[in-house]
Amino acid sequence: MTDSSFEALPLAAPLKRALSEKGYTTPSPIQAAAIPLLLEGHDLLACAQTGTGKTAAFALPILQRLHDDKRKPRPYSVRTLVLTPTRELAVQIADSFKTYGKHMRLSVGLVYGGVSQRPQERALKDGVDVLVATPGRLLDLYQQNCMDLDEVETFVLDEADHMLDMVFIHDLRRIAKELPENRQTLLFSATMAGQIAELAGKLLRSPREIRIAPAATTAEKVEQKILFVQQENKRALLTHMLGEHGDGKPAELRLVFTKTKHGANRLATQLSKDGIPADAIHGNKTQAARQKALNRFRNGEISVLVATDVAARGIDVKDVTLVVNYDLPMEPDSYVHRIGRTARAGASGLAVSFCSSEEVYLLNAIGRLIRQDIPIDAEHPYHAEPVAIRYRNPSKRRDDGRNANKGGQHRKRPNRPGRGHTASGGKRVNGPKSFASSRRKSFAR
Ligand code: AMP
Repeated sequence: MTDSSFEALPLAAPLKRALSEKGYTTPSPIQAAAIPLLLEGHDLLACAQTGTGKTAAFALPILQRLHDDKRKPRPYSVRTLVLTPTRELAVQIADSFKTYGKHMRLSVGLVYGGVSQRPQERALKDGVDVLVATPGRLLDLYQQNCMDLDEVETFVLDEADHMLDMVFIHDLRRIAKELPENRQTLLFSATMAGQIAELAGKLLRSPREIRIAPAATTAEKVEQKILFVQQENKRALLTHMLGEHGDGKPAELRLVFTKTKHGANRLATQLSKDGIPADAIHGNKTQAARQKALNRFRNGEISVLVATDVAARGIDVKDVTLVVNYDLPMEPDSYVHRIGRTARAGASGLAVSFCSSEEVYLLNAIGRLIRQDIPIDAEHPYHAEPVAIRYRNPSKRRDDGRNANKGGQHRKRPNRPGRGHTASGGKRVNGPKSFASSRRKSFAR
């Protein structure tokens, strides 16, 4: 685009007004690339992370279509279906539609598990222009005849890679099979490997492809540091770091990532005891408790939110100044997602990662993905030189993958057999084994 403002895009006045009220002047790269294609009616395969502005990239053309064709939805019908992996993302996406569509007539429905089904059923009765849903509850409601999907004009699959961590590919295809052939389909994913490519091949028709901000570019915007530390000193290091600014008043919003839900709870409690107001957010918490923690974080009542990957993915909290990887993620992709919580929409941010000797192989995997050497901060009081040596030692690095995991991690944590990791590869074991038995649980995360 030569004129890089929203004014240059063929969007209706009510949308432009809402964007200007929101303070957006310039489309982000994915918006500049996707909006014209989507307005022309193409299917889209977009490789893009949260934080790139992808929600508006799909919401604006959808709203434009609804604006151009003001038909009232028929009872129980759905004109736009957006599938997203988590409740938090669903709420955020629905909010974005409402914000950008605030000057037009628009009905937005929201469907996700973990809360009573009745209000969701009622909201579907009159039909909706846009339904944002997590797959499990959507299938439940669909099977109970609470909605028709045969009038869907636009289908968005958001965070498809993440969705496949929780949902079997055939369930997504099952949903897609209920949709009319003649629809526009958009698939967003941070990666395009394996099953995603397969899914894309099944769902999309002659899609245009956009690749925005691959991992390396996203990560480059964030100042990053590695702190080598023995596992048992991590908590003291965190308290030291967070307390540095000192008087206990929440000055900044800081997001701390742990590997497990229990770890998140424990850490939040300990931090609060140490005088740093904190709360935890993870998949075992009720929707109300998660929303409450998020609100407390957003309005500054607490300055630290301790989160697990699934719960935090896509959470859009403004002004996160610091992300701390208390535990390094098992999947290197998650590193990019985590640090993307700071430096949102062009702002700068700091991401600090604690690395114990058992996590060196994870750090190496991250380095390979983002193709950057992350600067090391050895100036903190808990610096563990043996871990740094292990990291620098190339002979140890060479077998960093599965073998390192076998030797270290599981000897260190005998009290959690089988919780979350296998003994061999560090893969999650709580994925859906049998759809029937595990579906509710996995979708509720
Ligand atoms: P998303 O990737 O959709 O989660 O968006 C990331 C953040 O960028 C959200 O806080 C949006 O409100 C914000 N954002 C999206 N598009 C723009 C834009 N064109 N200008 C400024 N901020 C934006």
